[in-house]
Amino acid sequence: MIEVKEWRHERERMVKEQIIARGVADKKVLDAMMRVPRHLFVDKIYEHQAYNDYPLSVGHGQTISQPYMVAVMTELLELEPGDIVLEIGTGSGYQAAILALLCKMVYTVERVSALKEAARERLEKLGFNNIAFLIGDGSLGWPQYAPYNAIVVTAGSPEVPNALIEQLAEKGRLVIPVGGEFFQTLNLVRKQKGRIFRKEVFECTFVPLLGKQGWK
Ligand code: SAH
Repeated sequence: MIEVKEWRHERERMVKEQIIARGVADKKVLDAMMRVPRHLFVDKIYEHQAYNDYPLSVGHGQTISQPYMVAVMTELLELEPGDIVLEIGTGSGYQAAILALLCKMVYTVERVSALKEAARERLEKLGFNNIAFLIGDGSLGWPQYAPYNAIVVTAGSPEVPNALIEQLAEKGRLVIPVGGEFFQTLNLVRKQKGRIFRKEVFECTFVPLLGKQGWK
């Protein structure tokens, strides 16, 4: 990734005051959050708010998640450099950028083509070459490149989609907000010896995962 110096001071503050202060300790995650220029993932009019402690609109009724949420979800994935990762809900591409710095390859699925196009363009400009994009219903995953060592869903789902459990590798980790249309609980799902283990992490609020195995 191309290094961007602008807003560095704000980025540092974000990492210290919002992320380290709340208990995220994984050095690699903190370093990625320090490097990715979040202000380039929002509209110019929101640039000065990009490092604040809340989600922001990215148009089409969608949002770029709060920085802390991105950090926690990434930490829960326990990524290794060789991992293949699936993200559902490309949105601005910010979470994909963080993931791409910590693993071998990111496959990201988005249903709104204008968002995917904008994300692809900005990630390309930043020099990422390990992110692949798909337009489609991410509640069905992306079977072609399965199994994935880690899967992250950045939209709220009524249930954990079966397709995603199927596409998770042995010892894989899946992080997904599960619950109602407006409030969910972040779930960490693991596959071990073919068995599924599920843990609730904390309450959260995401836009809905729309699709066959999401909200109809
Ligand atoms: N990860 C994003 C935040 C995404 S917000 C970021 O870092 O900016 C959630 C996204 O999920 C939205 O862009 C929405 O369009 C998308 N989405 C909702 N349902 C989907 C589905 N079934 N398949 C793929 N994307 C979906």
